Amino acid sequence: MRVVLVLLVIATGCIGDMAGQVRSFTGEAQLEDMASRFAPTPLRVDISELTGGDRQALAKLVEAARIFDEVFLQQMWTGNIALYQRLQRDTSPLGRARLHYFWINKGPWSEIDDYKAFLPSVPTSKPPGANFYPENVTKAQLETWFSSLPEEGQQKAKSFFSVIRWSPTEDGKKGVRHSLVAVPYSEEYKDDLTRAAGLLREAAALTQNSSLKKFLTTRADAFLSNDYYESDMAWMDLDAPLDVTIGPYETYNDELFGYKAAFDVYVNLRDEQESAKLSAYTKHLQEIEDNLPIDPEYRNRKLGGAAPIRVVDQIISAGDGAHGIQTAAYNLPNDERVVQQKGSKRVMMKNVQEAKFHSVLVPIARKMLIRSNAIDVNFDSFFTHIVAHELMHGLGPQQITLDGRATTARAELKELYGAVEEAKADVTGLFALQYMMDHSKETDLAKVLPSDDAAQRQLYITYLASAFRSLRFGLKDAHGKGMAMQFNYLTDRGAFVAHADGTYSVDMGKIRDAVRELDHDLLLLEAKGNYVGAKKMLNELGVIRPPIRRALVRLDSIPTDIEPIFVTADELVPAATAAPAAKPAVASKKRKGR
Ligand code: ZN
Repeated sequence: MRVVLVLLVIATGCIGDMAGQVRSFTGEAQLEDMASRFAPTPLRVDISELTGGDRQALAKLVEAARIFDEVFLQQMWTGNIALYQRLQRDTSPLGRARLHYFWINKGPWSEIDDYKAFLPSVPTSKPPGANFYPENVTKAQLETWFSSLPEEGQQKAKSFFSVIRWSPTEDGKKGVRHSLVAVPYSEEYKDDLTRAAGLLREAAALTQNSSLKKFLTTRADAFLSNDYYESDMAWMDLDAPLDVTIGPYETYNDELFGYKAAFDVYVNLRDEQESAKLSAYTKHLQEIEDNLPIDPEYRNRKLGGAAPIRVVDQIISAGDGAHGIQTAAYNLPNDERVVQQKGSKRVMMKNVQEAKFHSVLVPIARKMLIRSNAIDVNFDSFFTHIVAHELMHGLGPQQITLDGRATTARAELKELYGAVEEAKADVTGLFALQYMMDHSKETDLAKVLPSDDAAQRQLYITYLASAFRSLRFGLKDAHGKGMAMQFNYLTDRGAFVAHADGTYSVDMGKIRDAVRELDHDLLLLEAKGNYVGAKKMLNELGVIRPPIRRALVRLDSIPTDIEPIFVTADELVPAATAAPAAKPAVASKKRKGR
């Protein structure tokens, strides 16, 4: 699963009718406006600590990564590659603008505008089955075909790693008949996968790290055999300065059935400093659980093992990992067999989060916070709270007992669980960081977690700024709904203060107790599996009140997300055709802000 750290703007409805039979299309200025919602941001990573072998391996991996941009284009739509080539040849200003926005979306549909087409002569919206199924087959026809197959055939047809195609077969006197067949990725994308496998093997030969060697070799085999199991297992064991994820993973693009995986690539450098911080926090998780603001009977006396978290900096992403809203963290693999044996691993891309912070959160803070607060918004606090949020999903009541019956908070809270659990992770994250700051002087935490007054102020004020970021998600999203509930609760307690000019600030005298009380309430809803209570709380507080609605309108002009420019990767291996990205002049100026 993936977290995009999405920063949606309220839809402006400015795109209009752009495609289909009508020969209208989006003009140059409008395309530039649409693209400007993605702030071009250089991703620069210091690779000077890599060994010579790893650095050479990295160059091979960058080459391999780029192959998957084109594989992904093929996966999304039959016409995508031809369209891309046509756009590359068009050097008119309109052609450049089209190519630029096409490349941001990796297709002719604007993702953040509900996949509306922005180029002429393409389907009005992305085909729901992408190019995983033939375009002229309905969902019902496919279902009938699936159920007509024997067990083994069904497995192949519903596999993550096959596409469905029409295949002509000679049928005696009747002539050629067409029937549906499942084609494995190893055949459908044979040339590209063979090339990528070769590069992965070269990289494996160059690196000295045995876990990376193992992953790259087994993954190269998987590209050709179509069996990804062993390489997914090797990915869980990967422990190397170069942290690589490359393969078919997420099935979000298959909106028909959710069966088919798109190719995703992230080539990252492990962040040693953040990894050390993380292991320092992890040592204190049981102690935090033992002190949660809830009756001792509801605390876990012994926490289960925490899922591994890696903090990395992204050098290049490609394919499904590089279109529209940029992925900031992911949780893989998706193969249940691997998850059962080895669990799953969460990878957080710190420099991507930082780019989003500077391009989106800092401008939000400037508009929404009183001046004296805005200067306290700070990336370290932002990132530390995201890490704490992830860790806190593992704390608090999960397996619960109601009238002698064993159940889970998730099962009892049903559709409300997402919003309550996301709010709980946010608020427990604040509680945990405050707890660690209060106790850091005596412990190993002192080195990794500043705890002076300024650090405490920065934590809560950055959280307030980040609340506006989440509120832009809207209430359909669990994070947005959960944040509305937190925001209103803390405002009602006087911990967030609204000012006459529409800006906000934190009352440092009130925020700590208010967070503690809110955390108590949320944990208790989960401990008691209290559906009625959760419903009441969400109905009253999980809403956008008029002052916030007015405030959010003022954020319309702030970018929605970033457009990454892979500076380090491009310096290492110049791209054959330059990616049609905009110049990052604006972004580098913004990055000087705090
Ligand atoms: Zn979460």
